[in-house]
Amino acid sequence: MNTFHLTIQTVDGPAFEGEAQRLFCRTIDGDVAILAHHADYCTALGMGEARVTLEDGTVRKAACIGGMLTMLDNRCRLLATTWEWSEDIDPERAHAARDRAQALIEQGGLSNRELALASAKLQRALVRSSVAKK
Ligand code: ATP
Repeated sequence: MNTFHLTIQTVDGPAFEGEAQRLFCRTIDGDVAILAHHADYCTALGMGEARVTLEDGTVRKAACIGGMLTMLDNRCRLLATTWEWSEDIDPERAHAARDRAQALIEQGGLSNRELALASAKLQRALVRSSVAKK
């Protein structure tokens, strides 16, 4: 079977451990797809939708908000700042966070730091809204 060992860890604990056929996620340099026997690799993660294709072909979606990814000897380790499986995301909360961040940005008068924080919050909310199970 063409799989690799995948571990997904967050500060709150393990999110996944097992064999996978494919991992798709957003890095700071763009999207990447990891397949079995990918070259050894290390990157920082961005914010975006991630998809894990399990051994049986099932695809699970998640919101991944930053972290690090390494692939070494056919073992992939993803340490995420935040990793939320689509079924664990509360869409109403994400929409409310998006609306609050958008209103704050549109209202203006923010310092550079406040604007950066509001933009990051908006980005997180948009990723969660799009990944949340419909
Ligand atoms: P909010 O304003 O709704 O708290 P936020 O972007 O400030 O959004 P974060 O600081 O990124 O939230 O996350 C705080 C914690 O809440 C994390 O553990 C994260 O997994 C969880 N979380 C945030 N938004 C959601 C959501 N829509 N559904 C489920 N968990 C969420």
